[in-house]
Amino acid sequence: MQKVTITQQLSDLLPYQIEIGDNPDHIGGEGKIFFSLDNRYVVKIYNQPGPDKKNLLENVIKLGKNLGEDAHLLAWPLGIVDKLDAEDCLGCVGLKVPSSHVNLTKLIYTRNEAIKQIQQGRNWLDYLKIARSIAAAVRTIHGKGMAHADLHWKNFLVDISTGEAILIDLDGLVVKGFLPPQVKGVRGFIAPEVEMGLAKPSEATDRHSAAVLILWTLLFRNVMEPQICYDAEDDNNDGILGYGEKACFSEHPSDRRNWPPSIGLPLIRQGFPSFKMLTPKLQELTEKTLIDGLHDAKKRPQVWQWEKALAEAQDVTICCSHCEQSFIYPYWIHPAPRRHCPFCGTSVRSPRPVVLELLEEKTKGIYLPTRSIVLDRDRPLFVDTIERSQIPPFNRDGLPILGRTIWDANKSIHCLISENGTAWQLLTAGSGIIKCGKSVELRRGLVLYFSDAKRLLRVVE
Ligand SMILES: [Zn+2]
Repeated sequence: MQKVTITQQLSDLLPYQIEIGDNPDHIGGEGKIFFSLDNRYVVKIYNQPGPDKKNLLENVIKLGKNLGEDAHLLAWPLGIVDKLDAEDCLGCVGLKVPSSHVNLTKLIYTRNEAIKQIQQGRNWLDYLKIARSIAAAVRTIHGKGMAHADLHWKNFLVDISTGEAILIDLDGLVVKGFLPPQVKGVRGFIAPEVEMGLAKPSEATDRHSAAVLILWTLLFRNVMEPQICYDAEDDNNDGILGYGEKACFSEHPSDRRNWPPSIGLPLIRQGFPSFKMLTPKLQELTEKTLIDGLHDAKKRPQVWQWEKALAEAQDVTICCSHCEQSFIYPYWIHPAPRRHCPFCGTSVRSPRPVVLELLEEKTKGIYLPTRSIVLDRDRPLFVDTIERSQIPPFNRDGLPILGRTIWDANKSIHCLISENGTAWQLLTAGSGIIKCGKSVELRRGLVLYFSDAKRLLRVVE
């Protein structure tokens, strides 16, 4: 047993001394990682800290104050360690992430790993939530003017049952002009300009790394992985070229150098999921980041835009009638019989889900579409859906319901039954009032009004 002594505490939760084992639990590039004997804390002791390291750590710890509602997604360092038994050292200490959280590599490292997870009953919706959680964690530090500089799968610990992802390794944060980058990142996630030696890690390069990680979580592959060799003699140079100067998005519409075989075929038939299985908004963010913004960091969307699009994607998922996987209903594909489950390939049969559009008042009397939602039979419509500026909450357990869809087989149409105290008003398809317990047929073009302060709901198909 060894004892570490802590100074510079950010949190009252930390004791003055912590007991750790004699041998490290992990060995990383920068130092050794120990868990405390009571299993509550994690201690990192640096191998060869630079002269500024203590000062940098003090600043990072101070920046951890007032992180807001998503602080639980960040394993912030809470104190500085300066003694290991009687020896001087430098390290940092934080709360240990619960053992329910596993390294993200265990879930998505390869397509085969993902298939195994899915065969064991994992639902793709869990991966969508993990991706959202990753975006929320990164958005929180970007919102404070910081960058992580080392975003990759090993720096997220994930609870797949809840979709919560916790970002670790926050002791190397970057703040422009204040905290310089201390690491370059991990190949595969590093932005091209950093690989090429043209820039240092920053918020702009985080945007690239976060996009690659989010898409890896959703599609079970690195969408930037080179398929050809650029330097057979030198692996390192091959990587620098493949992810740097010669980098190319795997589904680039005109440059097919990195197209993987069997792209877009159902996953269980050894296909590679295509980014085209994602919502139009997520497809647009992918193209802006990895095509338009690949070598032009200014064009990369911010991470909060990913978070919003990932949250909204939750409301357009349906369950496959054949394999029971959740997937994004490709309502933008026409004709409708061409809509398939990306996991087993079964086409979505009639009665197909109803597609609705939420409209929000931008200026007096002018309503514009804000996002789509898809309702399958017996699917609840939650009250938050019609609240202005609201994105779907991470978890809707116990939240109030506005109504519920049922399938009227006699009339061959989806109906929405009101379960809400406030009467709804029909703005089209004849005027009328829908009181609690009554239903309305969801015919194309129907517009429902709830109140002046709420969104409108329009039936698209
Ligand atoms: Zn399926």
